[in-house]
Amino acid sequence: MTPVVRLLALCLLLPLPALAWNAAGHRLSAALAWERLDAPTRAAVGILLRAHPDHPRWLTHAGRDDDPTRIAFIEASTWPDDIRRDPRFYDAGRDTATPTLPGFPDMERRRRWHYVDRPLPPVAGGPLSTGELDRRIGRLAATLADRRASLQSRSYALPWLIHLVADAHQPLHTASRLDAEGRSDEGGNALTVATPLHPRLGRMRLHAYWDDLPGPPWLRGSRLEAALRALERQAPPPGGPEVWIEESWQLARDAAYPPAPEIDRAFDARARDIARRRIAEAGRRLADLLNGLPAGSGRVERGH
Ligand SMILES: [Zn+2]
Repeated sequence: MTPVVRLLALCLLLPLPALAWNAAGHRLSAALAWERLDAPTRAAVGILLRAHPDHPRWLTHAGRDDDPTRIAFIEASTWPDDIRRDPRFYDAGRDTATPTLPGFPDMERRRRWHYVDRPLPPVAGGPLSTGELDRRIGRLAATLADRRASLQSRSYALPWLIHLVADAHQPLHTASRLDAEGRSDEGGNALTVATPLHPRLGRMRLHAYWDDLPGPPWLRGSRLEAALRALERQAPPPGGPEVWIEESWQLARDAAYPPAPEIDRAFDARARDIARRRIAEAGRRLADLLNGLPAGSGRVERGH
């Protein structure tokens, strides 16, 4: 089987894995962060985005009047999800490695980077959480800040960092509910709920319901700008990735699971409020993180 045929076969046979906030949520967080980036950071970020092998793809979404660096920054926010369907990339442990293309460290999809599922309720002495989200944000930020790191590795790290800061704010990317036998619902992926309020789907996995709250995945252009203006602009509490993930875990515990198998208006309204707030918090925190990196001083330009 060719890799493409194998990929198609896998897509047909396997349930679609979680993507975290859908593309709308990631673009909104990134667009909000962009507003708050200072000029040196925007310049440094632009250099890294232009060095990324998939930069030309991002620019295809830039209109004549758009700032191309801003559009590349927004489009890069979904890159770690986009590669899940891209046959240039592979899943470690499931596929044969695909050839490493110029500009990439390797072609792994790194699905475990998107989440860190801690058990709900907490279990004394285990099981341990799965996923690497908690560790990756700090490492990616360190790579971006490292003046000795290559331009290629920093350019690879940036879309991941933009993406994972938002993932850390999705409650069901930080928690999995355990049943009486200790079986995990995999961040709500194994739990189907009735969604009569959804415009198209009457039933969804709870995880997908949360992913879709920010808006349709094709949200771009004037609709994106309108959704951006509607986001909360209050400053989030201080703290780093550990705080964000703890907040998400508490939201998963207190508010992510509907009390009945059918999602009603009250639950849906509250979930939408939480999603909007979390996306806005992710955007502000991403901006603070990037502005605080040494790359923001423009030193990134002297990279090799
Ligand atoms: Zn993700």
